[in-house]
Amino acid sequence: MKKIKILEERCKGCGLCIEFCPKKVLGFSEKRNLQGYRVVGFYAKEKCNACGICFLMCPELVFVSEE
Ligand code: SF4
Ligand code: SF4
Repeated sequence: MKKIKILEERCKGCGLCIEFCPKKVLGFSEKRNLQGYRVVGFYAKEKCNACGICFLMCPELVFVSEE
């Protein structure tokens, strides 16, 4: 299965990915990126099934897949 990587510096904190993740494995972390936005992180990465909805939803192309 593909692994999902989060490129935190691109995140603008809009929350769309959190809202639309069917597995509810995403949430805001305490960390802020250089632009000052709280970045998205995985809460339960083992439950992610790489469905790709977060790729489609994110306007900032934060999610990338690793082979
Ligand atoms: S790939 Fe699917 S399950 Fe995994 S974080 Fe993205 S939306 Fe959620
Ligand atoms: S959809 Fe993209 S920009 Fe918006 S919170 Fe999620 S990762 Fe960040």
